[in-house]
Amino acid sequence: MVPPTQSNTIDFDAAKLQRLGFSGNRQPKLRPLSLAELRRQLNLQLQTSLEVERIVSLFFSEVQRLVALDALAYQHQSSDLRLEYGSRSSHSAGYRLTHEGEYLGELIFRRNQRFDEQELNQLESLLATLLFPLRNALLYRAAIQSALRDPLTDTGNRIAMEQTLQREVDLARRNLQPLSVLMLDIDHFKRINDEYGHGTGDEVLKAVANTLKARLRNVDMVFRFGGEEFLVLLSGTCREAAALVGERLRLGILELQYLVQGHPLDLSISLGCATLLPAESVESLLRRADNALYVAKREGRNRLSMAG
Ligand code: GH3
Ligand code: MG
Ligand code: MG
Repeated sequence: MVPPTQSNTIDFDAAKLQRLGFSGNRQPKLRPLSLAELRRQLNLQLQTSLEVERIVSLFFSEVQRLVALDALAYQHQSSDLRLEYGSRSSHSAGYRLTHEGEYLGELIFRRNQRFDEQELNQLESLLATLLFPLRNALLYRAAIQSALRDPLTDTGNRIAMEQTLQREVDLARRNLQPLSVLMLDIDHFKRINDEYGHGTGDEVLKAVANTLKARLRNVDMVFRFGGEEFLVLLSGTCREAAALVGERLRLGILELQYLVQGHPLDLSISLGCATLLPAESVESLLRRADNALYVAKREGRNRLSMAG
C-alpha cells in the first residue's frame, strides 16, 4: 500500500480565511472597499470563527477598509471579556449591542480625528454584520465555560482541573517557577448527610467552597476534585507559602459559622500539600498531595500535612 502523502483533513477555518485573503500571522494588505462590498465580505468572514477575540479583531481590521480607525474596544462583563485593539485616542463612538433584547456587549470605535456623520452611518451599517457571529460566539463561550464548572459549588470541575494543571505545570517548568497544590477534604462529612440529610450536605458543600474562594486570591484555581474534596492550585507558590495558604483555609473553615436548626455545625477540613519536583508529572504531584491528605486524616484530621 502506498502511504498517503497528503492528509485529507482540512482545517476549514484556516482554509476559508486563506481563500478570503487571510493567512497565518501575515498582516494582510487591505484594499479599500465600498460599503456594500465590505458588508458582503464581513458577512462571510465573521462566520469563520466562534471565538469572540477573533471575530472582534477581524472586524477591526476589515472595517478600516472603509473607515479609518485607531482603536477598537469591546467588553462584555458577564462573559469576563475586555478586548482592546489599536492605540487609545481622543475621539470615540460607542455602541451598546443587543439582538432581540439580548445584550451582546459594548463596542467603542476610537480615533484621533472626529467621526463625521457619514462615517458613523457606515459604522452602524457594518455593526449589523457583527451581531449574529458575536451572539453565536458568546453562546459558544458560555457553553464551554459551563462545561468546565461544577454547578453545585461553582468551582472548576475535573475537566477544568486537568487542563489547568497541565498548563500551569508546563508554565512553571518553563519559567522555573515553583508550583504547589493543596488537596483538601471535609472531615466527617458523611455524618452531616446522615444527621441532616443530603440537602443540608449540599448547602454545607457550597458554604465550604465559598469560604475557600473568599480566602484565596485567585478563585479560578479552586476545583472540585470529587464528592467533598477540593484541589487548590497555587502557581508561583513555594512549599512554605503554600503551607501558609493551607493554614489560612483550614482556619477559615474552622471559623465558618454554619447554622442548622439554629445550631452551628462543627466543620473542619484536612489538607495535603505538595510542591512540584523537577521533572515530576501531574499524576505524581496529585498522588503525593493525596498521600499527604491521608496522613493528615490519620493523624487526627483538622490539620495540614506536607508531602515528603
Ligand atoms: P473523613 O473524610 O473525615 O474521613 O470522613 P467523611 O465522612 O467525610 O469521609 P467519606 O469520604 O467516607 O465520606 C464523604 C461523604 O461525602 C460520602 C458522600 O455521601 C458525601 N458526598 C459526596 N458528594 C456529595 C454531594 O455532592 N452532596 C452531598 N450532600 N454529599 C456528598
Ligand atoms: Mg471527608
Ligand atoms: Mg472524601
